[in-house]
Formats: sequence, C-alpha cells, structure tokens
Amino acid sequence: MTKPIKLSDKTSYDSFLDKFDTFLIDCDGVIWHHNTLIPEVREVLELFRKNGKRLIFVTNNSTKSRSSYLAKFQKLNIEANRDEIFCSSYAAAYYLKNVVKFPSDKKVYVIGESGITEELSIEGIQYCGSDEDNQVYTNGNEFNFSKINPDSEVGAVLCGFDTHLNYKKLAKAFTYLYSNPDCIFILTNEDTTFPSNGTIYPGTGSLVAPLIRSLNRNPDVTIGKPNKPMLDCMVQKLHLDVERTCMIGDRLNTDIQFGINGGTKTLLVLTGVSTEQEILVKDASIVPDYYISSLGNFSELLNN
Ligand code: PLP
Ligand code: CA
Repeated sequence: MTKPIKLSDKTSYDSFLDKFDTFLIDCDGVIWHHNTLIPEVREVLELFRKNGKRLIFVTNNSTKSRSSYLAKFQKLNIEANRDEIFCSSYAAAYYLKNVVKFPSDKKVYVIGESGITEELSIEGIQYCGSDEDNQVYTNGNEFNFSKINPDSEVGAVLCGFDTHLNYKKLAKAFTYLYSNPDCIFILTNEDTTFPSNGTIYPGTGSLVAPLIRSLNRNPDVTIGKPNKPMLDCMVQKLHLDVERTCMIGDRLNTDIQFGINGGTKTLLVLTGVSTEQEILVKDASIVPDYYISSLGNFSELLNN
C-alpha cells in the first residue's frame, strides 16, 4: 500500500490544486461540526471557486433535502447552489427516477424523514409511509396487525434515517418486501453510527438491521458512500471526469472508500472521525492519496 502524501505547505497545496477540476466535499467533519463552521473553511471554498474548481457537496445524511441543505449553507454564509448538493435523500430519488426508471403509477414506501419525501416529490415519484406512520400509541389505539392495510401500489421500500422509527413502519416495510420478491429494497446509506454532540449515535445502517434480519434479505441497493450508486448518479448528472476529481472527507470507511470505489483521488482531513494514526499503521486497509490537518489549512495560500 503506498503511503499517503501529507499536504503541509504552500507548495504542496498548489501542486494538489493543479491536479483537479472538481472536488467532492463531505460536509460534517470537513466543512462544519453540526452547526459550527470549521475555521477558515469558508475562505478556502471561495479560493477553490476563484481558481475555477467545481464543488459538489456530498453527504450521507438523508434527513435533509437539497433545499434544506442550501438553507444551512446560507445560514453559515457559504456560497452554494442546489445543483451542487448531493445528499443521500436526493441521490436515492434520482436513482429511482433515472436508473430504476420507477413507474409513475407505483409508490415507494418510505422509512425516513422529510428530506426523502421532498426529493421524491420533486422527481414526481409517489410515496406513502414516512410521517403518516409516525404514530404514537395512546390508550385504546394499540398496534393492531389487522390494521396494516398494505397498499397494493407499493413497488419499492426506501429506508433512511428516521427518528420516528416504530414497529408499525418496520412491520409495513417487512410486509411489502416479504410478500413481493420484486419489491425493490433500497437504503439511502448504511452508516452504522454517525457522530453528533461529541459522541456517536445509531445510524441508518443500524436502524434497518431488524428489517434485514427478519427478512433474511439484503437491500438490493445502498445509495450512499462508500457505495458506487451515488457516484454513478453524479457522473451521469454532472458529467464528472473522475480522473480530475478528488473526494475530500473525514471518514476512511465511507468518504475515502467512496472515492477509491469510484476511481477518484482522495484527501482525508483530520477534523472529523478518522485519525493520522489509522492511515500510517503498517497494515492500514484504507489509505487516502493525500491528507491534511484541516481543509482550512489551504487558507495559507491566501497570505501571499
Ligand atoms: N446520517 C445522519 C442521520 C447524519 O446526521 C449524518 C451527519 O450529520 C450522517 C449520516 C453522515 O453525514 P456525512 O456523510 O455528511 O458525514
Ligand atoms: Ca463526514
């Protein structure tokens, strides 16, 4: 395994920038931590744009749509437009529409939040589930198996992160997939955990584990990093030249593996999940092409 190149001075920053036209940039841990911008990153993104670089923001978080991500970028005063955002909610809707060519008379049953349902609506894909099954059991309104009432038009089950996940949603999703082997089973992403508030919490990959276990069936496709479908959607929609593209991320097993799987070059930043130690050990299994302490360090190029 070749050793990663550490970017640590202006010469290395310049020669790195020269190699690429497009940067795929993971959000949490690279640009911000939750709602706090990482120092100097705004200035660096402006510098990249001034140098003619194309920026695509890539996140496995399925809870938000591109529009709500855009609102977050605006709140943090970072330039972005909707077409530059690839969140797993949008990528899943894009995939259903343009790759699966999901029929317009069929519905998708959704475990997930408004990011997914907004993006499905924009793509003109019918759905059910999500909020309508956010049921709280009150007295006299217990879960009742005879009231599942499967919708005969469901042709796919799409699962993303859902803080209102409940037994009813799992039972409905199970029913669609168990009773119909042709019903497509899609995950927005498979992160078992994600970082928040200085700790980690169960992610989409863990929330859907009961479904996978009870069905004894794996998803037909998982869209988000490190899997290829999200990159395939980007290449199709944005005509990316992967040879001149670099994926920038903070996590080896999602971001860096995503770049490796898709044939882009990779840059690990050390402001998030993965550490320098992990990539420098002798038997490291996932190694980026480059690494840097923080994306903000490129701001040194501004002080000429
Ligand atoms: N899934 C959820 C629900 C999240 O909130 C996050 C991060 O905020 C992620 C996944 C990972 O996102 P990213 O790919 O931007 O690191
Ligand atoms: Ca991240």
